[in-house]
Amino acid sequence: MQKYSHSGRLGQIPPYLFAEIGRKIEAARKAGVDMISFGIGDPDMPTPAHVVEELGRASRDPRNHQYPDYEGLLAFREAVASWYKRRHNVSLDPVSEVLALIGSKEGSLHLSLAFVNPGDYALVPNPCYTPYRTGTILANGLVHDLPLLEENGFLPQLGKIPKEVVKKAKVLYLSYPNNPTGAVAGMEFYREVVDFANDNGLIVCSDNPYSEIAFDGYRPLSFLEVPGAKDVGVEFNSLSKPYNMTGWRVGMAVGNPEIISAMATVKNNVDSGVFNAIQYAAIAALLRTPDSEIGRLNSVYQKRRDLVWETLNSVGIRTGRPKATFYMWCRVPERHTSASFATLLLEKAGVVVTSGAAYGRYGEGFFRMSLTVPDARLAEAMGRIKDALA
Ligand SMILES: *Cc1c(COP(=O)(O)O)cnc(C)c1O
Repeated sequence: MQKYSHSGRLGQIPPYLFAEIGRKIEAARKAGVDMISFGIGDPDMPTPAHVVEELGRASRDPRNHQYPDYEGLLAFREAVASWYKRRHNVSLDPVSEVLALIGSKEGSLHLSLAFVNPGDYALVPNPCYTPYRTGTILANGLVHDLPLLEENGFLPQLGKIPKEVVKKAKVLYLSYPNNPTGAVAGMEFYREVVDFANDNGLIVCSDNPYSEIAFDGYRPLSFLEVPGAKDVGVEFNSLSKPYNMTGWRVGMAVGNPEIISAMATVKNNVDSGVFNAIQYAAIAALLRTPDSEIGRLNSVYQKRRDLVWETLNSVGIRTGRPKATFYMWCRVPERHTSASFATLLLEKAGVVVTSGAAYGRYGEGFFRMSLTVPDARLAEAMGRIKDALA
């Protein structure tokens, strides 16, 4: 019995669906099984040295020990604007069109609290990164699922959303290159999104933390490269994935100034911004990391992708060969569910993968592997999978 009843909001947060496999992983760990985990999308390689050095320098400056401005240092916002210009040819006003975030994850909640009223819908891809869904629920909004199906290249079909839902919808979430499916979106799809948002008065939120992680010469788009995008939306981006900085907690929301300003008002009432020394380190990452370093990290992921792809294919598991992100989205073999196959890999190979259904019911029948495992361990895991499934 719980002593305190939860708010209706918290009560609606879906329970952790895989408590059972979680318990099995915990038991295997306790038993000393040598497990190799492809579960979490958290880069295994270190933050670049010049970024760590800049944190050291900035942390010793007492001016950085006081409250930061909630919206971010102007120098940080200018660095974001110049990075967006250089990497994506997107022009941003650092004062009105950039907001610092303590990691981009918090952005979905700020956006929901700023714009979603009880009874309003958010249009949320399924499967998806869960904060779009839970951020909506915590703001007492309603979630309408947009199925991401393989036959549509894991893009939502906007024309299929019921009219009465569209009428009550406030926000449309998109995220390409996509976690968990590894799918990418092109200009044609995004033009349709801008038209749809204009026709229906929707705010588009493009969550784009994998905008720099791509292979085979592919260059992911920023939503803001699309003509008219800034009139209808914002993009979230993050230092976490391209600069191996998940632990540092620094990201940004950029785009439409009216939306950015409303998010900033929420943020100003919830927290006091990112530690200034971390913002200076982030500036170093954005402005002083050579493109060749991003290229080097991408070539590591690309080699891992190819090895995993070859291995899985050789044992009859169907998987895409993603052009971007560090995720493999794989079909479970016939007669398996996501959970049963994840359990089999755990018990037969000591390999941990994420069940596709953890990202929503349209993820059932898939599992996700994150390529953030050091090369030698990844090779070891591939050998074990071959042995287990041969
Ligand atoms: C990793 C990830 C993020 C980044 O989160 P941070 O809070 O900036 O670390 C955001 N969205 C998606 C889809 C992700 O996979």
